[in-house]
Amino acid sequence: MSVEKPRFLKFRHEVPAHLRFNKYVLYYYRPITDWWGCLASLLYIHNETVNILTHALPPFIIFYYLPTMLPWDQLDTIPILPYLHVISCLSPWIGSTLYHLFMSHNSGLTTYKQLLAMDMFGIWVAQNCGTLPCVTAATYCFPPAWRYFTLMTFVIGSFFSCYKAVTAKSPWQRRFSFLFPFLFRLIIVILRVSKIARGSPKAMPHLLLQDVVAVVGGALGAWNIPERWYPGQFDLCLNSHNIMHVLVVYAAYEMHQAVSYDLLWISALNHGTQHC
Ligand SMILES: [Zn+2]
Repeated sequence: MSVEKPRFLKFRHEVPAHLRFNKYVLYYYRPITDWWGCLASLLYIHNETVNILTHALPPFIIFYYLPTMLPWDQLDTIPILPYLHVISCLSPWIGSTLYHLFMSHNSGLTTYKQLLAMDMFGIWVAQNCGTLPCVTAATYCFPPAWRYFTLMTFVIGSFFSCYKAVTAKSPWQRRFSFLFPFLFRLIIVILRVSKIARGSPKAMPHLLLQDVVAVVGGALGAWNIPERWYPGQFDLCLNSHNIMHVLVVYAAYEMHQAVSYDLLWISALNHGTQHC
Protein backbone atom coordinates (compact mmCIF):
# COMPACT_ATOMS: atom_id res chain seq x y z
CA MET A 1 0.00 0.00 0.00
CA SER A 2 1.19 3.48 -0.74
CA VAL A 3 -0.20 6.99 -0.41
CA GLU A 4 0.24 8.50 -3.87
CA LYS A 5 0.85 12.17 -4.32
CA PRO A 6 -1.93 14.06 -6.07
CA ARG A 7 -0.37 14.32 -9.51
CA PHE A 8 -3.58 15.20 -11.25
CA LEU A 9 -4.51 13.80 -14.64
CA LYS A 10 -5.81 15.92 -17.51
CA PHE A 11 -8.96 14.90 -19.37
CA ARG A 12 -7.21 14.91 -22.73
CA HIS A 13 -4.88 11.90 -23.21
CA GLU A 14 -4.49 10.90 -19.53
CA VAL A 15 -7.92 9.97 -18.13
CA PRO A 16 -9.01 6.35 -18.83
CA ALA A 17 -11.93 6.02 -21.25
CA HIS A 18 -14.41 4.79 -18.61
CA LEU A 19 -13.83 7.94 -16.50
CA ARG A 20 -14.37 10.32 -19.44
CA PHE A 21 -18.07 10.87 -18.76
CA ASN A 22 -17.99 14.66 -18.63
CA LYS A 23 -15.93 16.28 -21.39
CA TYR A 24 -16.37 19.72 -19.78
CA VAL A 25 -14.51 18.74 -16.58
CA LEU A 26 -10.94 19.06 -17.79
CA TYR A 27 -8.55 18.94 -14.81
CA TYR A 28 -7.97 17.65 -11.26
CA TYR A 29 -8.60 13.98 -12.04
CA ARG A 30 -7.02 11.75 -9.40
CA PRO A 31 -4.20 9.41 -10.40
CA ILE A 32 -5.23 5.81 -11.04
CA THR A 33 -4.37 4.06 -7.79
CA ASP A 34 -5.14 1.22 -5.34
CA TRP A 35 -7.82 1.00 -2.59
CA TRP A 36 -5.59 2.82 -0.12
CA GLY A 37 -4.77 5.53 -2.67
CA CYS A 38 -8.48 6.08 -3.32
CA LEU A 39 -9.14 6.32 0.41
CA ALA A 40 -6.17 8.67 0.88
CA SER A 41 -7.65 10.96 -1.79
CA LEU A 42 -9.97 12.16 0.98
CA LEU A 43 -6.96 14.10 2.26
CA TYR A 44 -6.68 16.43 -0.74
CA ILE A 45 -9.04 18.32 -3.05
CA HIS A 46 -9.78 16.86 -6.50
CA ASN A 47 -12.68 16.88 -8.93
CA GLU A 48 -14.62 14.19 -7.03
CA THR A 49 -14.22 15.72 -3.55
CA VAL A 50 -17.56 17.59 -3.60
CA ASN A 51 -19.36 14.51 -4.97
CA ILE A 52 -17.92 12.34 -2.20
CA LEU A 53 -18.58 14.76 0.67
CA THR A 54 -22.13 15.72 -0.36
CA HIS A 55 -23.22 12.09 -0.17
CA ALA A 56 -20.95 10.91 2.64
CA LEU A 57 -22.47 13.43 5.06
CA PRO A 58 -26.22 12.51 4.93
CA PRO A 59 -25.82 9.02 6.55
CA PHE A 60 -24.16 10.61 9.60
CA ILE A 61 -27.02 13.14 9.89
CA ILE A 62 -29.63 10.36 9.47
CA PHE A 63 -27.99 8.18 12.15
CA TYR A 64 -27.81 11.18 14.49
CA TYR A 65 -31.51 11.97 14.04
CA LEU A 66 -32.65 8.31 13.81
CA PRO A 67 -34.44 8.27 17.23
CA THR A 68 -36.51 11.34 16.26
CA MET A 69 -36.69 11.20 12.45
CA LEU A 70 -40.06 9.41 12.71
CA PRO A 71 -42.69 9.50 15.49
CA TRP A 72 -41.87 5.87 16.30
CA ASP A 73 -44.28 5.61 19.27
CA GLN A 74 -47.21 6.52 16.98
CA LEU A 75 -46.28 3.99 14.30
CA ASP A 76 -46.72 0.86 16.43
CA THR A 77 -49.42 -0.56 14.11
CA ILE A 78 -47.21 -0.35 10.99
CA PRO A 79 -44.69 -3.19 11.12
CA ILE A 80 -42.34 -2.88 8.10
CA LEU A 81 -42.81 0.41 6.25
CA PRO A 82 -41.05 2.72 8.79
CA TYR A 83 -37.91 0.54 8.67
CA LEU A 84 -38.04 0.33 4.86
CA HIS A 85 -38.22 4.12 4.88
CA VAL A 86 -35.04 4.42 6.98
CA ILE A 87 -33.28 2.02 4.58
CA SER A 88 -34.48 4.06 1.60
CA CYS A 89 -33.16 7.26 3.26
CA LEU A 90 -29.71 5.71 3.79
CA SER A 91 -29.20 3.61 0.67
CA PRO A 92 -28.43 6.15 -2.09
CA TRP A 93 -25.62 7.88 -0.17
CA ILE A 94 -23.66 4.76 0.69
CA GLY A 95 -23.53 3.42 -2.90
CA SER A 96 -22.81 6.87 -4.32
CA THR A 97 -20.00 7.63 -1.85
CA LEU A 98 -18.27 4.31 -2.59
CA TYR A 99 -18.67 4.86 -6.34
CA HIS A 100 -17.16 8.34 -6.32
CA LEU A 101 -14.42 7.45 -3.83
CA PHE A 102 -13.14 4.33 -5.58
CA MET A 103 -13.90 5.04 -9.26
CA SER A 104 -10.20 5.71 -9.96
CA HIS A 105 -9.15 2.25 -8.72
CA ASN A 106 -6.43 0.63 -10.79
CA SER A 107 -8.41 -2.54 -11.54
CA GLY A 108 -10.16 -0.47 -14.19
CA LEU A 109 -13.44 -0.92 -15.96
CA THR A 110 -14.57 -4.11 -14.15
CA THR A 111 -14.41 -2.52 -10.69
CA TYR A 112 -15.85 0.71 -12.07
CA LYS A 113 -18.90 -1.15 -13.43
CA GLN A 114 -19.42 -2.94 -10.08
CA LEU A 115 -19.25 0.38 -8.21
CA LEU A 116 -21.66 1.96 -10.67
CA ALA A 117 -24.09 -0.97 -10.26
CA MET A 118 -23.85 -0.52 -6.47
CA ASP A 119 -24.60 3.19 -6.86
CA MET A 120 -27.59 2.42 -9.10
CA PHE A 121 -28.87 -0.23 -6.69
CA GLY A 122 -28.78 2.30 -3.83
CA ILE A 123 -30.79 4.79 -5.89
CA TRP A 124 -33.23 2.01 -6.84
CA VAL A 125 -33.79 1.14 -3.16
CA ALA A 126 -34.47 4.81 -2.38
CA GLN A 127 -36.77 5.28 -5.35
CA ASN A 128 -38.85 2.16 -4.77
CA CYS A 129 -38.80 1.55 -1.00
CA GLY A 130 -39.26 5.32 -0.66
CA THR A 131 -42.37 5.24 -2.85
CA LEU A 132 -43.98 2.18 -1.21
CA PRO A 133 -45.40 4.03 1.88
CA CYS A 134 -47.08 6.61 -0.39
CA VAL A 135 -48.53 3.86 -2.63
CA THR A 136 -49.71 2.00 0.49
CA ALA A 137 -51.40 5.13 1.85
CA ALA A 138 -52.96 5.95 -1.52
CA THR A 139 -54.52 2.49 -1.85
CA TYR A 140 -55.36 1.97 1.84
CA CYS A 141 -59.08 2.66 1.33
CA PHE A 142 -59.36 0.74 -1.98
CA PRO A 143 -61.34 -2.54 -2.06
CA PRO A 144 -58.85 -5.34 -1.10
CA ALA A 145 -58.60 -6.79 -4.64
CA TRP A 146 -57.73 -3.39 -6.16
CA ARG A 147 -55.35 -2.62 -3.32
CA TYR A 148 -53.33 -5.82 -3.76
CA PHE A 149 -53.43 -5.51 -7.56
CA THR A 150 -51.97 -1.97 -7.35
CA LEU A 151 -49.31 -2.97 -4.82
CA MET A 152 -48.32 -6.09 -6.79
CA THR A 153 -48.09 -4.03 -10.02
CA PHE A 154 -45.78 -1.61 -8.20
CA VAL A 155 -43.61 -4.40 -6.74
CA ILE A 156 -43.27 -6.28 -10.07
CA GLY A 157 -42.53 -3.02 -11.92
CA SER A 158 -39.95 -2.14 -9.26
CA PHE A 159 -38.04 -5.39 -9.77
CA PHE A 160 -38.04 -4.78 -13.53
CA SER A 161 -36.74 -1.26 -12.84
CA CYS A 162 -33.96 -2.77 -10.66
CA TYR A 163 -32.85 -5.07 -13.48
CA LYS A 164 -32.78 -2.16 -15.94
CA ALA A 165 -30.88 0.06 -13.46
CA VAL A 166 -28.02 -2.34 -12.68
CA THR A 167 -27.62 -3.49 -16.31
CA ALA A 168 -27.89 -0.04 -17.94
CA LYS A 169 -25.04 0.68 -20.33
CA SER A 170 -25.38 4.42 -20.90
CA PRO A 171 -26.32 7.50 -18.84
CA TRP A 172 -29.68 7.74 -20.65
CA GLN A 173 -30.46 4.04 -20.00
CA ARG A 174 -29.67 4.68 -16.34
CA ARG A 175 -32.04 7.67 -16.22
CA PHE A 176 -34.83 5.78 -18.01
CA SER A 177 -34.49 2.78 -15.68
CA PHE A 178 -36.13 4.99 -13.00
CA LEU A 179 -39.00 6.00 -15.27
CA PHE A 180 -41.31 3.35 -13.77
CA PRO A 181 -41.27 4.53 -10.11
CA PHE A 182 -41.42 8.14 -11.35
CA LEU A 183 -44.52 7.50 -13.52
CA PHE A 184 -46.11 5.42 -10.77
CA ARG A 185 -45.68 8.31 -8.32
CA LEU A 186 -47.12 10.70 -10.92
CA ILE A 187 -50.23 8.49 -11.35
CA ILE A 188 -50.59 8.22 -7.56
CA VAL A 189 -50.38 12.02 -7.23
CA ILE A 190 -53.05 12.48 -9.96
CA LEU A 191 -55.32 9.90 -8.26
CA ARG A 192 -54.81 11.60 -4.90
CA VAL A 193 -55.52 15.09 -6.31
CA SER A 194 -58.70 13.76 -7.94
CA LYS A 195 -59.72 12.17 -4.58
CA ILE A 196 -59.80 8.65 -6.10
CA ALA A 197 -56.83 7.64 -3.94
CA ARG A 198 -56.25 8.78 -0.37
CA GLY A 199 -53.28 9.59 1.84
CA SER A 200 -52.29 12.52 4.01
CA PRO A 201 -53.13 15.87 2.34
CA LYS A 202 -50.02 17.27 4.04
CA ALA A 203 -47.85 14.84 2.06
CA MET A 204 -48.93 16.16 -1.35
CA PRO A 205 -46.63 19.22 -1.72
CA HIS A 206 -43.67 17.12 -0.59
CA LEU A 207 -44.55 14.31 -3.03
CA LEU A 208 -44.58 16.82 -5.88
CA LEU A 209 -41.48 18.73 -4.80
CA GLN A 210 -39.47 15.53 -4.40
CA ASP A 211 -39.79 14.76 -8.11
CA VAL A 212 -39.59 18.34 -9.40
CA VAL A 213 -36.26 18.86 -7.60
CA ALA A 214 -34.90 15.47 -8.75
CA VAL A 215 -35.92 16.13 -12.38
CA VAL A 216 -34.21 19.56 -12.32
CA GLY A 217 -31.05 17.89 -10.96
CA GLY A 218 -31.24 15.15 -13.62
CA ALA A 219 -31.75 17.70 -16.41
CA LEU A 220 -28.73 19.79 -15.32
CA GLY A 221 -26.65 16.59 -15.29
CA ALA A 222 -27.90 15.47 -18.71
CA TRP A 223 -27.08 18.81 -20.31
CA ASN A 224 -23.87 19.42 -18.30
CA ILE A 225 -25.03 22.85 -17.11
CA PRO A 226 -23.17 25.09 -16.27
CA GLU A 227 -19.77 23.57 -17.16
CA ARG A 228 -20.59 23.20 -20.87
CA TRP A 229 -20.57 27.03 -21.10
CA TYR A 230 -17.20 27.37 -19.32
CA PRO A 231 -15.25 24.10 -19.77
CA GLY A 232 -12.65 23.61 -17.05
CA GLN A 233 -14.03 26.37 -14.82
CA PHE A 234 -16.26 24.17 -12.65
CA ASP A 235 -13.95 21.18 -12.24
CA LEU A 236 -13.68 21.38 -8.44
CA CYS A 237 -17.16 22.59 -7.51
CA LEU A 238 -20.55 23.79 -8.79
CA ASN A 239 -20.51 21.58 -11.90
CA SER A 240 -23.76 19.84 -12.88
CA HIS A 241 -22.99 16.63 -10.97
CA ASN A 242 -22.16 18.61 -7.81
CA ILE A 243 -25.44 20.55 -8.09
CA MET A 244 -27.38 17.35 -8.83
CA HIS A 245 -25.87 15.72 -5.71
CA VAL A 246 -27.12 18.56 -3.50
CA LEU A 247 -30.54 18.63 -5.18
CA VAL A 248 -31.11 14.88 -4.71
CA VAL A 249 -30.26 15.23 -1.01
CA TYR A 250 -32.99 17.88 -0.82
CA ALA A 251 -35.35 15.65 -2.87
CA ALA A 252 -34.72 12.84 -0.36
CA TYR A 253 -35.61 15.22 2.48
CA GLU A 254 -38.92 16.00 0.71
CA MET A 255 -39.50 12.25 0.27
CA HIS A 256 -38.92 11.82 4.01
CA GLN A 257 -41.48 14.54 4.78
CA ALA A 258 -44.08 12.96 2.47
CA VAL A 259 -43.53 9.48 3.91
CA SER A 260 -43.69 10.77 7.51
CA TYR A 261 -47.12 12.35 6.90
CA ASP A 262 -48.43 9.26 5.09
CA LEU A 263 -47.23 6.89 7.82
CA LEU A 264 -48.95 9.02 10.45
CA TRP A 265 -52.11 9.02 8.32
CA ILE A 266 -52.06 5.18 8.02
CA SER A 267 -51.44 4.95 11.77
CA ALA A 268 -54.45 7.20 12.47
CA LEU A 269 -56.62 4.90 10.31
CA ASN A 270 -55.35 1.87 12.22
CA HIS A 271 -56.07 3.55 15.56
CA GLY A 272 -59.56 4.59 14.41
CA THR A 273 -58.91 8.33 14.77
CA GLN A 274 -59.09 8.76 10.98
CA HIS A 275 -61.59 7.18 8.60
CA CYS A 276 -61.66 6.26 4.90
ZN1 LIG B 1 -22.88 10.98 -8.26
